[in-house]
Amino acid sequence: MSAEASQTAPEQELAGKVAIVTGGSRGIGNAICLELARNGAAVAVNYRRSADKAREVVEQIEAMGGRGLAVQANVASFDDAQNMVDTVIKEFGGLHILVNNAGINRDRVIWKMSEEEWDEVISIDLKGVFNYIRAAAPVFKEQKYGKIVNVTSINGLRGKFGQSNYTAAKGGVNTLTKTVARELGRSSVNVNAIAPGLIETDMVKEAPENVRQMALNEIVLGRLGTPQEVAWIVTFLCSEKSRHLTGQIINVDGGQYL
Ligand code: NAP
Repeated sequence: MSAEASQTAPEQELAGKVAIVTGGSRGIGNAICLELARNGAAVAVNYRRSADKAREVVEQIEAMGGRGLAVQANVASFDDAQNMVDTVIKEFGGLHILVNNAGINRDRVIWKMSEEEWDEVISIDLKGVFNYIRAAAPVFKEQKYGKIVNVTSINGLRGKFGQSNYTAAKGGVNTLTKTVARELGRSSVNVNAIAPGLIETDMVKEAPENVRQMALNEIVLGRLGTPQEVAWIVTFLCSEKSRHLTGQIINVDGGQYL
């Protein structure tokens, strides 16, 4: 648990709620799992490769007195998504919150990008979000309750040199968010997206130093964001305090994209 997280007074605003977080094993997803659990939700921690890390998240949730479940699934697989939703409902007795966080980048300028690099990012970052919303939407519609939060990026709003695949996927998720908000609104389902700026995670550790420095120059608050700071906003969007908010893309970026 980060030092920032431990400063938060425990609240149980999400008690009785069940959440799925895709890509919950590391980085931003990891912090979201722990913050939702700290607020009382039972959390299904999806991962693809990092089984040990996902198990660690579940252990941390259980150490707080909460309920967690690690579920291996590739978000790019339509069938895996349906199986995960079915498993979670069977294990936890329902589903109320879906956080589509899993994502990858394979950066390269458009004139050098391979078909494989394009397809991999689109299938995980864009189709993966469709897969989970498609599996959860009938449940949310039937129970007339649900919270969907999609993790996109400020680069999906403004474009970014070397990220045609990633920005197309994230931009697609931004408009997908608005469409699904319209389709599920009458069923009292809130659908929002958060668009982080540069956040200190494994994804960013791989970025060259000059890319980090360029981002730092843009960020009004003068520092990179933390996964915990993103998790606080996601948790707010999963709570009743934001129940009149839907179809919105909220930048969590320290003013990086103003
Ligand atoms: P990260 O540290 O690289 O973690 C990525 C997570 O996604 C891991 O838990 C990984 O699980 C999971 N994942 C990747 N491919 C998957 C797949 N096919 N199926 C299921 N899970 C998969 O990334 P992060 O920085 O936390 O990013 C999280 C989200 O925030 C992403 O959508 C990213 O685009 C977005 N974002 C990040 C930043 C930033 O600065 N960090 C900025 C804007 C937006 P395994 O390890 O188990 O494979």
